[in-house]
Amino acid sequence: MSVTKSVCIMGVTGSIGKSTVDVVRAHPDRYRVDTVTAHRNVAELARMAIELDARFAVIADPAFFDDLKSALSGTDIDAGAGENALIEAAERPCDIVIAGIVGAAGLRATLAAIRRGAIIGLANKETLVCAGELMMAEVRKFGATIIPVDSEHSAIFQVLDRDATDKVERILLTASGGPFRTWSMADMASVSREQALAHPNWSMGAKISIDSATMMNKGLELIEAARLFPVPEPQIEILVHPQSVIHSMVEYVDGSVLAQMGTPDMRTPIAYALGWPDRLELRLPRLDFASIGQFSFEAPDTGRFPAIRLAREALRSGGSLPIVLNAANEVAVAAFLAGRIGFLDIAKSVEHIMAAHADEKLLDIDHVFVIDDIARRSAEDLISQTAR
Ligand code: NAD
Ligand code: MG
Repeated sequence: MSVTKSVCIMGVTGSIGKSTVDVVRAHPDRYRVDTVTAHRNVAELARMAIELDARFAVIADPAFFDDLKSALSGTDIDAGAGENALIEAAERPCDIVIAGIVGAAGLRATLAAIRRGAIIGLANKETLVCAGELMMAEVRKFGATIIPVDSEHSAIFQVLDRDATDKVERILLTASGGPFRTWSMADMASVSREQALAHPNWSMGAKISIDSATMMNKGLELIEAARLFPVPEPQIEILVHPQSVIHSMVEYVDGSVLAQMGTPDMRTPIAYALGWPDRLELRLPRLDFASIGQFSFEAPDTGRFPAIRLAREALRSGGSLPIVLNAANEVAVAAFLAGRIGFLDIAKSVEHIMAAHADEKLLDIDHVFVIDDIARRSAEDLISQTAR
């Protein structure tokens, strides 16, 4: 017997949002979409809200409020706009919230969901990078539940023995290595936006695709893992596994290594988060090991991919440096996508902004936003000076 659960999809027009809609649609008896949000794409938001028969649709950019209202006129779907409406969306009593906004922009809404003790399927890793310790303290205080959606963290969540986390020797966070895994620095210096956006195994939003190409994505995921799981930083290792079939592994003190595998399709970890602690049936292509033939593994090259080193440094600092890493990276990725800087300038800008920042102990969430804002402005200034 199953009860219909209501879902709030933050970032419904994005890659994670659309995959979530797919999973929900495959189980109409179990899920009903209550709330949907997007940044600026009003037409798509309204279309999806109507198709899904949602109750509430929010456009984050208030400049599009009138457009949203007119697109929804004649329906009984409520329209909202701006940061407060995003918070209102997260505060609605939905059974599960999918946090699929990209970047630190998702932080206030995710916190609002945490503070009502919600079950949250969290894809929006940047929020954990910026404010992970504060968020996890709020999770404990308000009895919220975070189920990771990021495939590696979903894998770890699935194979981690929560009653024996002291018996974990290592987390092996796997990485595809991205489209430039085997490229020289000289070749990477001149890659185009299109080359960097073309991930070999996963189809994703623009920002995370660029992060995968610089391997900053794995750096952010290292910090994400350290926030989500009670395993010390030195015990979290990054392992390149180009096939992206093993989504991560946990090694225990007796030498046992538990892995979670699957085809690289985000609908699997999304379904796990939606269904948890149950499992939902998904009719996706199954792994065909004989045709895969071989798995391969490599150590990551932090010389060619300095983002991994920068993220570990930020994590070790124990204070505000991860916020600076993330903010500078968001600004640099946007500048690369806009054709203002080259590919290698992304990590270089992040390194420069981090070097100029004196690590501070984080006091509270407002402090996170202050540091985020300062780092964004420094990164903007740096990029304006060096832009082509
Ligand atoms: P995307 O760019 O495809 O979609 C982002 C969504 O967030 C869109 O709906 C957009 O309207 C909304 N959004 C963007 N900026 C916003 C803002 N300032 N305020 C409010 N809403 C805003 O991104 P995506 O690939 O779906 O990624 C979403 C998150 O999930 C990211 O944090 C990413 O790292 C993480 N993630 C994605 C994948 C994937 O396969 N796409 C895998 C693992 C983790
Ligand atoms: Mg991932």
